[in-house]
Amino acid sequence: KRQQLELLSTVQAVTRDGVALRLSANISSVKELDLALKYGAEGVGLFRTEFLYMDRQSFPTEDEQYEVYKQVAEKAGGGNVVIRTLDIGGDKHLDYFPLPEEMNPFLGYRAIRISLDRKDLFRTQLAAILRASVHGQIKVMLPMISSVEEVLEAKAVLAEVKEDLDRRGISYNAELPVGIMIEVPAAVMIADLLATEVDFFSIGTNDLVQYVLAVDRMNEQIAHMYHPYHPAVLRMIRMTVEAAKSAGIGISVCGELAGDERSLPIWLELGVSDLSMSPQSLLKVKHRTLNTAAAEAREVARRCFSGRRRGENEALLTEFLDRSR
Ligand code: PEP
Ligand code: MG
Repeated sequence: KRQQLELLSTVQAVTRDGVALRLSANISSVKELDLALKYGAEGVGLFRTEFLYMDRQSFPTEDEQYEVYKQVAEKAGGGNVVIRTLDIGGDKHLDYFPLPEEMNPFLGYRAIRISLDRKDLFRTQLAAILRASVHGQIKVMLPMISSVEEVLEAKAVLAEVKEDLDRRGISYNAELPVGIMIEVPAAVMIADLLATEVDFFSIGTNDLVQYVLAVDRMNEQIAHMYHPYHPAVLRMIRMTVEAAKSAGIGISVCGELAGDERSLPIWLELGVSDLSMSPQSLLKVKHRTLNTAAAEAREVARRCFSGRRRGENEALLTEFLDRSR
């Protein structure tokens, strides 16, 4: 089965009725990129950079980071490489950077909140990303954004780092696209305001589901309540896509939901063609795309958008998958 799927790696992801999708990979390392490319990823929709900071004794230097980002950009060829700035805190920790004991780490000192508090770390990472940006189609993405101020503050730091590179006589892409993860409900509710400040949104369903439903994504005891197809989640996704489309900025999905082949009707109905997922999901989702008629899938998605119960949509989507397999 796997071997049969691998034959699809060079085939374009197009539905039976001609809707083309761009399938990219979520990666944490250069090694994972190799796997993604083998499975036909068209780019990197999410590079989780925290793994560069793990398994070592101190923060990676600007040069160390630059080498890795450059390597990823070059390997990806002409494909997009979305580099997400450090997303530690929550469940991810560094041995050499003790974080405070927190009552609710997922609601605490995490991601962009750390970057804006520790601008020294943030500047180093942005400088490395900017320097690498001349080697490929690099974009930068900010995690856990919940306000317009955070975006403005981050962009101000980016502008400072650019000036510093100018002084150092180092070249970079002055037009480096800046995007944000939409993974906090507040960001969804102000998506129209955020859209005027950035070049793209990428929906992070892993955290979005946890925050919308108030269901800890790590808690086994309530795992049965973690419903990615809950009507509240679907409405949030739709609001985000609509805000991006009316502002004319890019929209993609990089949470695990994109790698769930059952979710395809949702993206087809909303007109989202840019999906990023773990390398292991690429061929499965591509196979599903090739075997799906967008017109039929949209019909099913429309029923989901008017569904009332959290379990109903999942059942509908599973049934559609089984029926047309
Ligand atoms: C997400 O939250 O959906 C996401 C892609 O980021 P992470 O899983 O790294 O938190
Ligand atoms: Mg996240």
